Amino acid sequence: MRKQIAAANWKMNLTLQEAEILMDALLATPHDLNENQEAVFGVPFPYLVNIKSKLAGRKNVFVAAQNCSDKKSGAYTGEVSAEMLKSIAVDYVILGHSERREYFNESHAMLAGKINICLENGLQPIFCCGEPLSIRETESQNSYVETQLKESLFHLSAEQLTGFVIAYEPIWAIGTGKTASNEQAQEMHAHIRNVISNQYGAAVADSISILYGGSVKANNAAAIFAQPDVDGGLVGGASLVAEDFAAIINSLK
Ligand code: PEP
Repeated sequence: MRKQIAAANWKMNLTLQEAEILMDALLATPHDLNENQEAVFGVPFPYLVNIKSKLAGRKNVFVAAQNCSDKKSGAYTGEVSAEMLKSIAVDYVILGHSERREYFNESHAMLAGKINICLENGLQPIFCCGEPLSIRETESQNSYVETQLKESLFHLSAEQLTGFVIAYEPIWAIGTGKTASNEQAQEMHAHIRNVISNQYGAAVADSISILYGGSVKANNAAAIFAQPDVDGGLVGGASLVAEDFAAIINSLK
């Protein structure tokens, strides 16, 4: 049975003091995760160690970096390597977020390299894909997302892709308050699973957790997560409010 995941993406928000207050409040808010469910906190690099230590002893709760370098090590000032993340026991790495693709020119090939280096270091990528509004308006979102998957993931073996985590995030829904409808989310998630099934077979496709991202809130999470191919969410704005993110965790099916 594939994992259900509520993943927070704090982006470039919060001071350390604010982050600690948020995490303390969240941990004090009742939320129950069954053995098949996880909460993942995508926090800024400088807070990974602090937040990880706050989660010590808690079951099914993990930290994610929001990026890593595609280079192994060396003269790349300002970069953070997968090996560094491994050395501080980071669990997940968010890769290919649309903000990184847009503002930092991350290409399909670069993302393939980042995925490889994460896997070599035992880090699980959360691979983000999703179309801009212009593509949705011409109804070509299926082939757009298919290309993203093929170009950055399809060099992996079936074994490497088994249990993988993908986040479908339509760009027009990120930070806009405009959520994809439950039907739009289900349709794309089923498409993603189908594309993977055609290449790798149904068993691999069924093992992959596909999260929805784009204006998931406390009041719409349960309906989106209830869709058969939606296995949780990647959450930006609402993950910065303790009660809201706790409610989103509790909305996992
Ligand atoms: C995100 O940036 O991954 C995201 C989904 O943001 P928001 O929930 O704020 O739309």
